[in-house]
Amino acid sequence: MGAFGSSLMKRARSGGKKNPQLRLFLWAAILGLIFGAIEFGKPVEDGLRAARNLVHKHKASGDIVLVAIDDPSLAAVDKWPWPRRYHAEIADKLDRMGARKIIFDIDFSSRSNPVDDRILSASVSRLGKKVTLPVQFVRDPVSGLRNELYPFEQLRRHAQMATINLRYNSWGVVWKLPYAMDMEGKSYPSFAAIMSGVSGRTGTDFGIDYSVDPSSVPVISAARLIQGEVPAALVQGKDVIVGTTSRQLGDIFAHPSRGMIPGVYLHILGAETLKQGIPINLGWFPAFALALIIAGCSLRLSDVRFSIGFSLAGLTGTFVAPLVSEPNLIFLDVTPALFVLLLVGGVDAWRKLKRTYSLRGKVNGISGLPNLDALREQKPDRVQPLIAARIQNYPQINSTLPPEDEKVLVEQIALRLTLGASGLKLYQGDEGIFAWFAEPSSLSDHLDALHALFRSPVVVAGSPLDLTITFGIDAGSDRSLANRLGSALVAADEAAAEGLRWKEYDPAKLKDAAWKLSLLSQLDAAIDAGDLWIAYQPKLDLASGRITGAEALVRWTHPEKGPISPVEFVIAAEQSDRIQKLTSFVLDQAIAGAAALNERGLDFEISVNLSARLVDDPMLTQDVRGLLKKHGLAADRLTLEVTETVALTGNGSDFAALRELRESGVRLAIDDYGTGLSTLEYLKKIPATEIKIDKSFIQSVGNSRSDMLMVHSTIQLAHSLGQKVVAEGVEEPETLELLKKLGCDVAQGYFIGRPMSYRALSRQVLTQLRQEAA
Ligand code: C2E
Ligand code: CA
Ligand code: CA
Repeated sequence: MGAFGSSLMKRARSGGKKNPQLRLFLWAAILGLIFGAIEFGKPVEDGLRAARNLVHKHKASGDIVLVAIDDPSLAAVDKWPWPRRYHAEIADKLDRMGARKIIFDIDFSSRSNPVDDRILSASVSRLGKKVTLPVQFVRDPVSGLRNELYPFEQLRRHAQMATINLRYNSWGVVWKLPYAMDMEGKSYPSFAAIMSGVSGRTGTDFGIDYSVDPSSVPVISAARLIQGEVPAALVQGKDVIVGTTSRQLGDIFAHPSRGMIPGVYLHILGAETLKQGIPINLGWFPAFALALIIAGCSLRLSDVRFSIGFSLAGLTGTFVAPLVSEPNLIFLDVTPALFVLLLVGGVDAWRKLKRTYSLRGKVNGISGLPNLDALREQKPDRVQPLIAARIQNYPQINSTLPPEDEKVLVEQIALRLTLGASGLKLYQGDEGIFAWFAEPSSLSDHLDALHALFRSPVVVAGSPLDLTITFGIDAGSDRSLANRLGSALVAADEAAAEGLRWKEYDPAKLKDAAWKLSLLSQLDAAIDAGDLWIAYQPKLDLASGRITGAEALVRWTHPEKGPISPVEFVIAAEQSDRIQKLTSFVLDQAIAGAAALNERGLDFEISVNLSARLVDDPMLTQDVRGLLKKHGLAADRLTLEVTETVALTGNGSDFAALRELRESGVRLAIDDYGTGLSTLEYLKKIPATEIKIDKSFIQSVGNSRSDMLMVHSTIQLAHSLGQKVVAEGVEEPETLELLKKLGCDVAQGYFIGRPMSYRALSRQVLTQLRQEAA
């Protein structure tokens, strides 16, 4: 790693942020370096190499012959270690048969009996350097003490000596052998070097070529050799190594693909390797560096198929290259390279596929233009105006066109919209919607010109089609593109409705929403400050022609904003749990007012609107009763109005609170009747005493037969259920007459009286009282 790695790391963290490709590359480089340095892929590396060895498995040279002290040999001499005269006999025999070198992979370090030692010494001194004997050091695995083992004195004097030391890994596999080794200041060649006749620098290693098939090494059983059963031709001119192969004697190692084999084969395979040439070990870096280059290139390719192809080619290369190089004794480690290619290729392909995949569904199926989803995902530019265009009669035109002509139509439209604006990116929605980002300058001129372009018909399949187009502008703001697009579309539709060519979205509407929020925070204070007050709208009893009651309607006169509609703040109060306070206020005022009028001898009823939110309030009855008692109003003088939607969406409630109220004598009215979907039958669940037919029916009862029928049947049904019927929104005298004829009980509306102050109301009803008395 070092400085190179840490500077890479810095770049990966900082510079790569903007560029995810670069970041991926740098991380792959860093992790790959670590991977290589700690040989993380070693088991895989070895497995791959073993597999490759099977692919180019080949025969040994045959120039090295093994004389095996095998099980039959042990059986023949029935004693181990063998008396050394047998080794002397083997050496002599081999020499006579014309062997080139005689190598003993047998430990002669300690003395045996003097006779045998002498026989062996004599033989070795006669054969001299033709004989090679092992030297080695052994390290005590516990104490770590090193102990050098040499053949005993007389042998050492005459014979060639070579090292048999080797290193095996934790799997018991020996991958490398030394050329030569230092022992006590003297260099000894390895057995492999002796047998191959190749020498190398002391302390350096070479990799064993395990593709040499060990079973192709010529083997002679020591027993048969001693018994003279082996033809001389088998050893003539060969290097002969004597070693143990019987399992009983141990000395076994793991072959990467063959399981356990006797240790003597390692020396043979090592020698066979060197006989083929000098192995070159390139290590992991060259393949790794090449992989980085390939990964870098594949990252630069934008087409996912190419970059996947490139990565796959890289991967294939990493598998094939050693397959080609290893028969030529060039060894390389590939797992860090594989790691880099798989990491970069995998992550990159995944990213690119994801993007391609998400691109689908972001394109209009007919024209291939990016669609509105694609637009919504753009990076919003605060200042660039967003234009939406809608062909208002697109659905009508399209329904007459064969499918293949719709593409032509869209192309014609797109052509006109982009005329004179090269490089403009047009987005297409369904049903004749188009959108784009425009330059802020002279926008209105541009849109006027575009509109003029559309005055001449487009020609599709030979027939001219007249298109009606309008434009909406969202001037640019911090809002999300989805919101801005919506606004521009609304503006385009508003333009169409108002007969304009284009219209700019009015952000004042948004300010309104903000205003509504601030409204709420002021509501509490407004109640306390007396900015909230009650207007009373009189109710006319049609049978007697008298004002017998009124509906309390809340009013808010804002010190700056002026009068605010209850529609606005009642809903807001409902949504923020301030409705209870508001209702208590209205109830208190209205009940107090009604009580005062009753005290003055009037028979006066008061209606108060009850928010749907409070219908389930368990405290409702108690609160209402408390107020009635406080002001001394009889319960049956109070009517609470609940809307029809309450009954419909009653949340499965059984209207317990309403039932309780009713039981205590309070009357209940169903407000806005007819606007929901419920039938009167269904509404019986609410213990209502009164039905208020919504003003939308009353206002047209004179000129719509169906409304007249609805009003008429409602009155009849309500009466059959013992309920009173109130008509609200009576604005014309004719309506009043008609309602009388239909048998309606009570009327309310501007014609009878507008919502008015309490003073105005009491003046009106007291006058009425006096007139009656007179
Ligand atoms: P609503 O209960 O249907 O009240 C009747 C509305 O119709 C009132 O509007 C009234 O001014 C209006 N109106 C009366 N006569 C006529 C007419 O002849 N023609 C037309 N076009 N309109 C007429 P307002 O006062 O703006 O109240 C609107 C709604 O606000 C009420 O509808 C009611 O749902 C709610 N609201 C008013 N005060 C309260 C209150 O104290 N508590 C609750 N929870 N809601 C209230
Ligand atoms: Ca009402
Ligand atoms: Ca109403």
